[in-house]
Amino acid sequence: MTGASLIASSQQTPFNLQREQGQRAVFCGLTSIIWLHRKIQDAFFLVVGSRTCAHLLQSSAGVMIFAEPRFGTAVLGERDLAGLADCNEELDRVVAELLDRRPDIKTVFLVGSCPSEVIKLDLDNASKRLTRDFQGSTRFVAYSGSGIETTFTQGEDGCLLSALEGLPVSESASPDLLIVGTLPDIVEDQFQRLFDEMGASRVEFFPGRDSQSRPNIGPNTKILLAQPYLGDTLRKLVSMGGTALSAPYPLGVEGSRCWFEAAASALGISPTKVAEVLAAPMKRGEAALSRYREELAGLRLVMLPDSQLEIPIARFLARECGMLPQEIGTPYFDADTMSGELPLLPEGVAWYEGQDLDEGLDRVRALKPDLTVCGMGIANPLEAEGLTTKWSIELLFSPVQGFEQAADLAELFARPLRRRAKLEVGLWN
Ligand code: SF4
Repeated sequence: MTGASLIASSQQTPFNLQREQGQRAVFCGLTSIIWLHRKIQDAFFLVVGSRTCAHLLQSSAGVMIFAEPRFGTAVLGERDLAGLADCNEELDRVVAELLDRRPDIKTVFLVGSCPSEVIKLDLDNASKRLTRDFQGSTRFVAYSGSGIETTFTQGEDGCLLSALEGLPVSESASPDLLIVGTLPDIVEDQFQRLFDEMGASRVEFFPGRDSQSRPNIGPNTKILLAQPYLGDTLRKLVSMGGTALSAPYPLGVEGSRCWFEAAASALGISPTKVAEVLAAPMKRGEAALSRYREELAGLRLVMLPDSQLEIPIARFLARECGMLPQEIGTPYFDADTMSGELPLLPEGVAWYEGQDLDEGLDRVRALKPDLTVCGMGIANPLEAEGLTTKWSIELLFSPVQGFEQAADLAELFARPLRRRAKLEVGLWN
């Protein structure tokens, strides 16, 4: 190898994970605001950053143009960056204007960026000061979405962690089961219905649609992640008294079944009851998936590190769609959040943690996979070289969890292959 630090770390993990360091190409944590602001409906995300940060948010959230957005950027000007202006004064002014216009906002997340970190703007203190100034009518919580520190899904981990630190504990009874990780409302509603049918009534979701309180973790609260990039939040919830459950993620029919079974087993629900409740959605999911298996089986897959969903998605594509993963990269490997996936992983795959962009691209060119899943910035050059690609960020913008969405998840990977096939037919005619 040249230019890359490649360390086999099989002692830490039961599969042969290789670690790579070098140039990365991933979005920063600000990107997670796009799905977080849709979920937490009384919150505002105020990025303290540069025009680049504002542009990133506006372009990745273009669909919000017709709605009153619940995110914005307090732009640090040249005087701020040069240390000639008091950034806190400017921040106070922007916040006062915002809350004057939007008194319905109950929580303001102050989101740090690369520029705010470079000038060492203390947003934790700013959030405490602003909470005092607004006398509790609006809460302010700070976290970092800076590209120096975070990959794009880690932004959600930082956000949820800050919410746990900054919000009061709910006065309601502690839940038996806390599902952690942003799920689209349609998926949350489906999951809630299935838990209700199993007789599990004290199930809560975090984050919820209301930002006013955080879950009341009790000694009997089991914590089950719905998203794999929330390791810090998981460890915090465990330190607050919860018990972490290990399960594959609810991606695909098998992953969803295992996920529900892990939850039900921890809640003492009988396997017979679980099987009875899951039978119909599993049947629908398997029927809808079968045509994708015909399309995808036997096709070779590479996933470059980007979304942190790569390991569960590779498991789904291999086991339920018959794809052949060649190389799967993940931005970082967290044994606490991936333990449920490891027993199900396909063999014969080169697993990578971290990234050295040029090395990774050279391997993709040598492997010539049928489909490469990667970040947006890498996809276009690879398409120009004749490779078929899928933007991994779409996994975060689409409802893909659960039985009813299993076929939609497979469709995300089948579509670019169909498009490429049509293009080639068109070119040859
Ligand atoms: S936080 Fe950093 S990486 Fe993200 S848009 Fe702003 S400057 Fe770019």
